[in-house]
Parts: sequence; structure tokens; C-alpha cells
Amino acid sequence: MTGLMTAPLIALGSRSFLRQANRLLAALGAREFEVLEPHLEPVTLPRGKVLFEPGDDVTTTYFPCRRTMVSLLIVTGDRREVEAATIGREGAVGGIVSQGHKPAFGRAVVQIGGEALAIPTSHLDAAKIGSPFFGDLFARYADALLAQMMQGVACNALHRADQRCARWLLASHDRAGDGVIHLTQESLAEMLGVQRTTVTGVTAELQSRGLIRTHRGRVEIVDRPGLERAACECYRAVENHFARVLPEVTV
Ligand SMILES: [Zn+2]
Repeated sequence: MTGLMTAPLIALGSRSFLRQANRLLAALGAREFEVLEPHLEPVTLPRGKVLFEPGDDVTTTYFPCRRTMVSLLIVTGDRREVEAATIGREGAVGGIVSQGHKPAFGRAVVQIGGEALAIPTSHLDAAKIGSPFFGDLFARYADALLAQMMQGVACNALHRADQRCARWLLASHDRAGDGVIHLTQESLAEMLGVQRTTVTGVTAELQSRGLIRTHRGRVEIVDRPGLERAACECYRAVENHFARVLPEVTV
């Protein structure tokens, strides 16, 4: 966890408060949470922080809290990046399912900075061995994450940039908890795998339709139902699957 800033909330002794800020941890029973609690470290993840690179041995698992969002990116040989999944307070990043040695396949980058709880994966592994509850919860989370990635393959191949942008903003809105998403157009372009100029055009169009309002580094959702109509079916498909597989974690 070198290089991570200490979260101001640590001083308040607010670990249980942070637990509530991550839906996956909040879904744990009191006994299960007690197993993890001594090993959970509150950290602040700055935007742009790389949590792991492809091939790295994943030794730390991060539970994003509140508005923090992390992208799992696939990196191609010519150093281009495409987002494969977005993980916020509904989930965890790194080593959540597999056991033991875990080389990372993609790059994990903090897209929206904020608080998280970090735990050495060795402690998570021990907890999974000790209680089937962890294995069940984390396997269902992995199923929901896989669904997100599968839908993403179809979405990237079949749907327009404005539909995909609307989808991404809706998913971020769910996790942000209010109508403002702190996000630059560069980040949005990275996550959608399009040029910055494409994002500028798409956000201008969504704004002209009265659905969003963009400020410097912020996107405000003005008309949520309208944005849902503007998005492709992928947003709803993923959310519905998540709600069926992990009803206790739905954001
Ligand atoms: Zn789509």
C-alpha cells in the first residue's frame, strides 16, 4: 500500500462507518466482518493511481467506498487502453475470487478518487477457507462482474458512443449517490475507448437535449429518466442481473 495517502477518516475511528460505505462489505454478517476487520486498512486512492499492472502478483484487495471508482483496463501492445469493467462501492478490486498466486490480467486504475478499504489478499484467502459465506458472496459478485464484462463486449461492438456514454453516466450516477459525477472528459474518453473529440461531441449533444450539464471536471445529471431512455439496453441488462444475483449488494 506504499504511496497511498492516509484517509482523514482513520482519525475518527470510522472503520465500521467505512464498512457501510462499501456494499459488498456491508453484506457480510457481523461475524464475517469481524474476521476481516483487523486487517482492513482505510486508504485514500488519488485519481490516476495504478493499483496493479498486467502480470503483477495481486497482493492487495481494495473495496472502494462511497464515490470511489476503479477501472479495469485491457492494455494492448501499442499501449492503448479499453475499459473492461468499472468497480465502485458495490464491489472489490483484485483477488476477490481466486486463491493463492494471482497474476493480474488487466490494469486497475482509479478513475474517481476517494476512500477505500484495503486488505492483504492472504487474509482474504484465509477468510474464504474458514467460512463458506465468503466464498458464496464473492463467487456471486464475480458472476455479476463477468456479466458486466460480457455485456461490455456487445456494447462496444454494437452500440453508438452517445448510448454508451449515457450508460456509463447512469452506472456512475448509481454509485456516486447524487447527481454530480466528478469526471474529466479525458477520463470519459479513456473509459469509452474513443477520442476526446468524440466525447466532447457526445456530451454536447446530451447537454443540448437537457439530459446532463457539464462543468470543468464535473458532469451533472439533469434528467435521469431521459438519460435512461438515451442509453442502450446494456445498462438495464447489467443492473437487472446484478439485482438478481446479488440483491443485498445492489447500489
Ligand atoms: Zn450497450
